[in-house]
Amino acid sequence: IAAKTQFFFLFFEVDVQGRVRLVMESALTARDRVGVQDFVLLENYNSEAAFIENLRRRFKENLIYTYIGSVLVSVNPYKDLEIYSKQQMERYRGVSFYEISPHIYALSDNAYRAMRTERKDQCILISGESGAGKTEASKKILLYYAVTCPANDHMAALGEQLLQSNPVLEAFGNAKTLRNDNSSRFGKYMDVQFDFRGAPVGGHILNYLLEKSRVVHQNHGERNFHIFYQLLDGGDDDLLHKLGLERNPQKFQYLVKGNCPRVSSISDKNNWKVVMKALSVIGFTEEEVQNLLNVIASVLHLGNTQFGEGEEGETFITTETQMPNLAELLGVDGSALGNALTHKKLTAKGEEMITPLNFEQAVSARDALAKAVYGRTFTWLVEKINQSLALKVHTMPSSVIGLLDIYGFEVLQHNSFEQFCINYCNEKLQQLFIELTLRSEQEEYETEGIAWETVQYFDNKIICDLIEEKHKGIISILDEECLRPGETCDVSFLEKLEDTLGGHPHFVTHKLANGKTRRVMNREEFRLLHYAGEVNYNVNGFLEKNNDLLNRNLKEVMCQSDNQIVSQCFRREEVMDQKRPEMAATQFKNSLMKLMEILMSKEPSYVRCIKPNDGKQAGKFDEVLVRHQVKYLGLMENLRVRRAGFAYRRRFEAFLQRYKPLCPDTWPNWHGRLADGVSLLVNHLGYKPEEYKLGRSKIFIRFPRTLFNTEDALEAK
Ligand code: ADP
Ligand code: MG
Repeated sequence: IAAKTQFFFLFFEVDVQGRVRLVMESALTARDRVGVQDFVLLENYNSEAAFIENLRRRFKENLIYTYIGSVLVSVNPYKDLEIYSKQQMERYRGVSFYEISPHIYALSDNAYRAMRTERKDQCILISGESGAGKTEASKKILLYYAVTCPANDHMAALGEQLLQSNPVLEAFGNAKTLRNDNSSRFGKYMDVQFDFRGAPVGGHILNYLLEKSRVVHQNHGERNFHIFYQLLDGGDDDLLHKLGLERNPQKFQYLVKGNCPRVSSISDKNNWKVVMKALSVIGFTEEEVQNLLNVIASVLHLGNTQFGEGEEGETFITTETQMPNLAELLGVDGSALGNALTHKKLTAKGEEMITPLNFEQAVSARDALAKAVYGRTFTWLVEKINQSLALKVHTMPSSVIGLLDIYGFEVLQHNSFEQFCINYCNEKLQQLFIELTLRSEQEEYETEGIAWETVQYFDNKIICDLIEEKHKGIISILDEECLRPGETCDVSFLEKLEDTLGGHPHFVTHKLANGKTRRVMNREEFRLLHYAGEVNYNVNGFLEKNNDLLNRNLKEVMCQSDNQIVSQCFRREEVMDQKRPEMAATQFKNSLMKLMEILMSKEPSYVRCIKPNDGKQAGKFDEVLVRHQVKYLGLMENLRVRRAGFAYRRRFEAFLQRYKPLCPDTWPNWHGRLADGVSLLVNHLGYKPEEYKLGRSKIFIRFPRTLFNTEDALEAK
């Protein structure tokens, strides 16, 4: 029913007793109930409380998506919503962003159309903390493209292969953590390449910083990577026998630390089948799969390799009986492996010296080997997937959509090297956001000849420099300390930081703070004032993690392996090369630089994911937790920038075409100048002159209140 000035919705409501009644609601009360679908429409846009209240209202109505202009904010519902069907995909296909309720499909479609019509490469950047829904979002985007894009005749299977890469990568790169039962322990950037007709024809994945330490240790309540449990639960008896494995995960030292062999939300057995099938769809041969499983099993056996201490302090392996099995799985010589696990080879002045390891050293050599084998196998796996997704010769890619699913800003009770890298990565992404969003806004206003006032925002370049600058940045100092001969330790690293960075406005330690900081600092910590908040990092383990060393004699043994995967992961050249490989933080820094370059050349869309509670529960909205994330994700600032500009912009023709029925002067056809027609129409819709601007070819509206459909209200029911 449409009254003169007001819209009404009619819908059926089913109460708890199953009674159905007809409800009529005005658009205004509907808006009170479901909030606004774009934060730029919030009257009190400077108020964080109003922002969170809007999120909460929508969340209660199962409306998990809200825009800030073209940024999509998503709140994890922790339950399956019926909003991802094929029909839904069809609804969003080719429909303009603001004319339909916010959805991940709308964003996907928008990026796709921009790529097609403007011939510009796109990227979709998904951020948020662990468990916020990043990986699920990236899968939905991929699914949207696989289902809705035309297929290329030569590569009909590509969409399927793209989709199937997910279960494989998740099996090897995801784990159950306290925050997420299926937590990605690596960062991922995936390019989807399209041909000139818009059909997906290729893909490429870049992986970042797998959390290798999880292979040998898990915190209480957490697990190792899924694949281990999948193999033990899903592998048939023959296979396990061949691999020398028992079915019970509690028998393996690398799986018992978290005391959490099963997770109620996960079926390891089913997932095993899914992964095995996915491997074959992607094109792994039987032999490759066998080699892969040998490697996985060998890691479990390594974990069960135990050491004893002899009378003269020498170390020996007490689990000799399982060594042949381990050696066979790794495809190496058993006694050479045993030797390399208990001895170290040094080259001093051209002479080789073999020295025995003590007990602790042997344990850490073993763990280092397990981490190296697993980590390199993961990289091998990604490479392998890339080969199968690679463009075939007869197809020409025309444009690309990149998907970035990478760890969000992380503040834990105890923050270490990993959090340092993760938060550094987020600083870089914030830089990119500033560059791309502000720059592109300014550019558009300029080409359209629209006056625009610059918005003040915090430029976090100073923090990026603090971390990455040559010679005096934290990473350089860390590398130097790792290379410095003589006694170096984590504490001497901290002292170096203090000497070099004391006085920097974003760097604080116990000594430098002089009682000036609010929170008491530990003597082993340094604090960075990130753009998203303060984080204390404990320096313990920084040097070792950055060094990431594997004894040379272990490498020598591994590079002679006749397991194809192992020999491809450990190259002979690496052993021959006397040059020290790049250290972990520098490697990460370089890979981030490359990533920034890739992203800079594309037009970005953003998905900001929010976790509503720490209990993985449906329906629960923890305001304190959400407030933190709104802050860390910089959403208020985002909104401010957006408010300063124009939320809605559309070419004159398209604008007239869509809204001309609303105004008698433009209906049914407008024959005059386009800009005049638009002007009449927009005035008729009740916009005041200060609320919109006409550019050369587009209309810009600050807050397009009445243009937004109120479809949300209908959907909520
Ligand atoms: P992240 O990658 O940000 O750490 P995930 O994408 O793995 O988080 O999401 C964590 C869990 O939350 C998922 O396993 C799923 O159970 C749930 N979840 C996330 N997004 C959705 C969604 N859109 N609909 C339903 N459940 C979701
Ligand atoms: Mg994830």
